[in-house]
Amino acid sequence: MELLKVEGLRKYYYSGLFKKEVHRAVDGVSFEIGRGKTLGLVGKSGCGKSTLGKTVLRLLEPTSGRVLFEGQDISGFKGSALKSLGTRMQIIFQNPESCLNPRMKIYDAVAEPLRLHRLCEKDEERGRVQELIETVSLSEELLFRYPGELSGGQLQRVAIARALGMKPEFIVADEPTSMLDPLVQAQILSLLKKLQTEYEISFLFISHDLRVVEWMSDEVAIMEAGKIVGFMQ
Ligand code: ADP
Ligand code: MG
Repeated sequence: MELLKVEGLRKYYYSGLFKKEVHRAVDGVSFEIGRGKTLGLVGKSGCGKSTLGKTVLRLLEPTSGRVLFEGQDISGFKGSALKSLGTRMQIIFQNPESCLNPRMKIYDAVAEPLRLHRLCEKDEERGRVQELIETVSLSEELLFRYPGELSGGQLQRVAIARALGMKPEFIVADEPTSMLDPLVQAQILSLLKKLQTEYEISFLFISHDLRVVEWMSDEVAIMEAGKIVGFMQ
């Protein structure tokens, strides 16, 4: 069974007077992602990639369609069911700053989700944070710095460590390297690939750069104006 199956997913944005203007950002999208596999999603800016990623994760309410995770329809999940889903599925954004509190030290940024979801005992926390920071090849000294003191590549590694702490089975990576220099971009992409094989995580890897997507993905979906217009192996 596929880990993730998306069927006829739609996300419309309504705007204007009486909400009568409809923008079909995601307009009937279907795909599957196997365990430990990466589906790349490529398309021009504004074609609906981020909306699709967030709707799959239920960060946005779908207008219609189904999302099956391990065969279970999560489209209607609410409350605690939705919360527990929140550790199994993660998102990594283009701007790691957006998920990091500027006044929180890196140590606490990595520890926060562990505490929030009670993922380890208090006396194990230090060790677990160190392990996570090593996994993303960051030096331990950075743990007691603030986000403002780190480079873009280091911040993206912190965001990845934070996500990994929750032992996710599925990650949406939404243009995770688009803001980085080419060399740093290559390093982060290699890291994501390494983590994927090590932990058998499934990815929806979003980018506007076909070369990047091809290198990262087992299969590539091409999106145009809210629809998937083709798949490439
Ligand atoms: P991409 O990630 O491919 O650049 P997005 O999913 O961000 O595309 O956006 C798809 C379309 O939906 C764009 O035309 C964008 O302007 C529109 N859109 C995105 N978010 C909203 C929103 N919250 N309200 C209304 N329209 C939106
Ligand atoms: Mg986007």
